[in-house]
Amino acid sequence: MQLPASAPVITLRPAQVLQGDFAVLKVDQPLPGEPALHVEGLSEQPKLFLLDRHPTAFIGIPAAAPVGTYPVRLTWEGGEWEGTLEVVRKDFTVDRLEVTAEQEQIYYDPRQAEQWEKLYRLRSTSFPEPLWQGAFRPPLDGELWVTTYFGEIRIVNGVETGRHSGMDFGAPLGTPIYAPARGRVILAEEFIVSGRTIVIDHGLNLFTAYYHCEELLVQPGDWVEPGDPIGTVGSTGFSTGPHLHWTATVGNTPVDPWPLTQGSVADLFAGGRD
Ligand SMILES: [Zn+2]
Repeated sequence: MQLPASAPVITLRPAQVLQGDFAVLKVDQPLPGEPALHVEGLSEQPKLFLLDRHPTAFIGIPAAAPVGTYPVRLTWEGGEWEGTLEVVRKDFTVDRLEVTAEQEQIYYDPRQAEQWEKLYRLRSTSFPEPLWQGAFRPPLDGELWVTTYFGEIRIVNGVETGRHSGMDFGAPLGTPIYAPARGRVILAEEFIVSGRTIVIDHGLNLFTAYYHCEELLVQPGDWVEPGDPIGTVGSTGFSTGPHLHWTATVGNTPVDPWPLTQGSVADLFAGGRD
């Protein structure tokens, strides 16, 4: 006997999402055809994954996204769903940096465009399943000294250059950096601006990145478990002293990495996959 088909239940959580945070869309059953998701007003569209054939997506909200209501539309063969995402204000602080002409020259080196392009390409595909379990651990041990928060408005020599794409932790040169969750290393090389850089794919379009490392202890293709040493703190690239710049991205959209350590990923995934 075949059970009667019921209307799909689509959840989008949280209902209100902070600027620079993310939401998760889930569907309680497989949908026919090729489901497609569109969020109006986002320049980078979320990627839809099929988890046990259930459509699932992370939706990253840029720190600079205007507050307001974003219409969300999910379509599939023979059906559609419309919902909304409420982006609410987060107060970001301002970070003023003074750099020398030489450092500034590094920042505007034309070769960096190629390197960001490579990173962009690498983050356009992701492992189709969540590789993490539960909350992420912080990338450094012990008490953390945050020198710059995520999303801070960055003013270099008096000129606004954008938002800070991650969190900076001040730490002595050579301090070990640990993988915060399971994942696969997709990049480990020296870039002009971000210095020695590591990027990990955690699946479902969720990535973390580590900038300005002194040593790189992993290479592309390596699988890492939470707590595995991946590198050490340095001051390579565009940096004014030893620190770790830790970024999380949904695809190529930077989001605040800190909520990942507070269980937000686990909470948003809990109980709704049946
Ligand atoms: Zn930074």
